[in-house]
Amino acid sequence: MPFVYDFDHSHRRPPMELKDLLGGKGANLAEMTSVLRLPVPHGFTISTDACRAYMHGGWPEGLSAEVKRARTRLEKKMGKLLGDPVDPLLVSVRSGAKFSMPGMMDTVLNLGLNDESVQGLAKQTDDERFAYDSYRRFVSMYGRIVLGIPGEPFDTLLDEAKERSGAASDADVPISQLHALVFAYKQIIRDHTGADFPQNPDAQLRGAIEAVFGSWNGPRAIAYRDHEGISHDLGTAVNVQAMVFGNRDDQSGTGVGFTRDPATGAKGEYGDFLVNAQGEDVVAGIRNTEPLSALKDKFPKIHAELLAIFGRLERHYRDMCDTEFTIEQGKLWMLQTRVGKRTGRAALRMAVEMTTDPGIRLTRGEAVERVTAEHLDQVLHPQFAGTGHTVLTKGLGASPGAAVGRVYLTADDAAAAAERGERVILVRTETSPEDVHGMLAAEGILTARGGLVSHAAVVARGWGKPAVVGAEKVRIAGRSFSVGATVVNEGDWISIDGAAGEVALGQVELAEAKASDEFETLLGWADAIRKGHLKVRANADNGPDAANGRRMGAEGIGLCRTEHMFIAEDRLPIVRRMILAEDAAAEDAALEELRVAQRADFIEILEAMDGLPVTVRLLDPPLHEFLPDTSELAIKEATVGLDAEEQALFEAAKQWHEYNPMLGTRGVRLGVIKPGLYSMQVRALMEAAVQRVADGGKPVIEIMIPLTVTREELALARGWVEAAVTATLVSAHRSTRRRLEVLIGTMIETPRAALRAGEIAEVADFFSFGTNDLTQMTFGFSRDDVEGRMMSAYLEKGLLKDNPFETVDADGVGELVRLGVTRGRATRPSLKIGVCGEHGGDPESITVFADAGCDYVSCSPFRVPIARLSAAQWVLAHAAPSASATKKRASARTAATRAPVRKTAARKTAARKTAAPKAPASKKRAPVRKTAARKTAARKTAARKTAARKAPASKKRAPSRATQRLAATKRGSSSRPPARSRAR
Ligand code: PEP
Ligand code: MG
Repeated sequence: MPFVYDFDHSHRRPPMELKDLLGGKGANLAEMTSVLRLPVPHGFTISTDACRAYMHGGWPEGLSAEVKRARTRLEKKMGKLLGDPVDPLLVSVRSGAKFSMPGMMDTVLNLGLNDESVQGLAKQTDDERFAYDSYRRFVSMYGRIVLGIPGEPFDTLLDEAKERSGAASDADVPISQLHALVFAYKQIIRDHTGADFPQNPDAQLRGAIEAVFGSWNGPRAIAYRDHEGISHDLGTAVNVQAMVFGNRDDQSGTGVGFTRDPATGAKGEYGDFLVNAQGEDVVAGIRNTEPLSALKDKFPKIHAELLAIFGRLERHYRDMCDTEFTIEQGKLWMLQTRVGKRTGRAALRMAVEMTTDPGIRLTRGEAVERVTAEHLDQVLHPQFAGTGHTVLTKGLGASPGAAVGRVYLTADDAAAAAERGERVILVRTETSPEDVHGMLAAEGILTARGGLVSHAAVVARGWGKPAVVGAEKVRIAGRSFSVGATVVNEGDWISIDGAAGEVALGQVELAEAKASDEFETLLGWADAIRKGHLKVRANADNGPDAANGRRMGAEGIGLCRTEHMFIAEDRLPIVRRMILAEDAAAEDAALEELRVAQRADFIEILEAMDGLPVTVRLLDPPLHEFLPDTSELAIKEATVGLDAEEQALFEAAKQWHEYNPMLGTRGVRLGVIKPGLYSMQVRALMEAAVQRVADGGKPVIEIMIPLTVTREELALARGWVEAAVTATLVSAHRSTRRRLEVLIGTMIETPRAALRAGEIAEVADFFSFGTNDLTQMTFGFSRDDVEGRMMSAYLEKGLLKDNPFETVDADGVGELVRLGVTRGRATRPSLKIGVCGEHGGDPESITVFADAGCDYVSCSPFRVPIARLSAAQWVLAHAAPSASATKKRASARTAATRAPVRKTAARKTAARKTAAPKAPASKKRAPVRKTAARKTAARKTAARKTAARKAPASKKRAPSRATQRLAATKRGSSSRPPARSRAR
């Protein structure tokens, strides 16, 4: 296989499909040149194969010869020679990996200039100033990028030249100063490297190509890939392209254009441009840009031509495209296109609108595939709650969502503050790739300069992080910034709204975002697609949560943790009375009080989920969790002393203390030693159900026994439940009894339960995999401890590919799920099976459960839309359409036992960022699941670090027991549960 391909090379497949080989930029340049025949400056692409070969063994054999031949072909096409002293060809050398990594890797422009060819350029263009300005830019770029010299000495000299000559901008620096700058820049290179700036274009080209290859492994690029989950093995392609100049004169310019608005999804062109400038000036946000609509006034013909190209691109790619273009002395050149990044809001709107766009006509399935879990997450981002805040200043709303944090003015300070656990807003004049770590750490980003396609805007949008850019009134000075007379110091709180572009002082209250019509439409399509396949339920423990879950599209409750009803402030004293009871009468009295309280809770929940199944889990946690902390009481006892009640509680707490409570008296074991407890809960639930029927409702009840390990345990517990159900219904009307459906099942939370699922299914109507505990017990990782202490080390060292409490361990825990499903259904083919652990809301885990043949997943209400989407994407990617649930179940079961033939949607997404066309030898035999799973540990680390910092928003982490308690206690009477509990 050759290493080098001209843009007009005739490939066997459409070049846009060859991103593995040509990189994203190269593939699309070839598509625009050879298929669409758009005005693209000629050039050639050095493939990612070459980069990978370079990374493994240095400059590949044969590459020099191929580059030389491609260069000669290019020179022929252009009728100019590189380095020619009379009429030189100049080229750009740009990186272009398979996945876009905006600004993360290196580019060298104006290559081919030297002391002689600069004079030729000056003569040919009749513009000495332009020629020397180009040479100055090239020498400094070469010095910084190829030779690794810091940018500062170059910038300082330019600033001094501007000051000396009174130039307002770079474009005003006079020729005499440019000559001097070129001379001085070459001297900097000599001083730093001990060698002269290379005059030979061959050497220049080789240096630039190596620099681009090398930038793949630069710290910025690595940090970006870690965050984005892009494999470090892919390597980058290098594009060598004839230069066109947007900085020739006022008939020239450069810009970035989108075929639709990437922030809102609105139809119509969108972008920025600058007259008399090079592309870097637009992207870097160094000068404030003009909107694309202004192009119509300045260059009407070009504007029309550009719009026609936008139309062709959209129809060809059947998607929104983003482009870079240059106008050189009145002629339009397309320098790049790709399917554009977009916000969640825009993704939804575009996906829905493109189904009816006559030039595109997406199918509904394609529309559903276009939207990602991240997009939905963004739509569900918070916004400013009201209008009561005072706006300090406004900029461009570059990435939606609102954020509140303390001001930090450098990336390092922002990262350090976030490391200390602070919420941070990074405030910069403009951002550059050097700021990525600070941007990652920040809740939101504010810049004083730059447009909607500036570095800050593009990066923040890609990450779904709120950003306001181009807030021109912001003046940064040292450790503070000012807007007029208002000074905001480092560490002060500010709030930003990345949709409205508003900046406010202090901590503005945030409100949840409202879903758009497109959100509802698209999720409606997703529901239609997954119908008959995987259902989605919510984990909810109270009426408001249940109602919220239903609003989010839940088809029932998969887990109602009844202990949360016990922990609420008004219930805790009763629970404690029950624990402290010295005789049966006292225990019964406390249980009776609890029954009345729980009954009211159940009525609310059943009402909110009327007609849909509600799985109520009987009490699960060890009883000492309801008692005060023994260490605190011990201190109090030793200092001020305890009153009688405290003394009793202290004694009880000590009595119930267990060394390993997660493996202790909890779940069904608790029922075994306090059987009255479960009976009471069932009676409360059934009374609520009877009441609901009396009120005209249709309660559908599933009673779930936690932590079962043996058939005998479940049979015993089932007996109590049945007895309590019968006892409650005995006095109910026959018609009520007929209208009440009750299933009795169990959680599968231990490896033994999964292994013995066959016999457990003899006494279970349903299983629900509690993958939080199943993960804890399969790994032997304490879910309360390991994430804080050792998980990051495990991920950093690659000992685990993912945090198994976030994304289910497909090979281990997943194997137990598959086994449990197969064995359970072998005994009872109609066995209903769900998942209610935290993984039920994680797209990648959902594919594992769907593959295993589960009927539903259950997750926190706010993850329900994501689960609906992921389930539909799984169906689209995986399951054959089937008419009946039985047929589906059979096929799903078969699927569970054989290797998947097609990638599931989430795996596809993961694999998308991983798979190289030809994996290097050592990775060659990675099967689909492995490939998808090889998202590097390092990426997870970066992402997790960010997530860990914004702890309350952390979505997926399995809640520790302590967290659950806290969440439930805080719930109190508020209709909105606290973030943690919502997040589950
Ligand atoms: C589980 O273990 O997965 C589960 C849902 O139960 P909990 O998190 O309440 O232990
Ligand atoms: Mg559990």
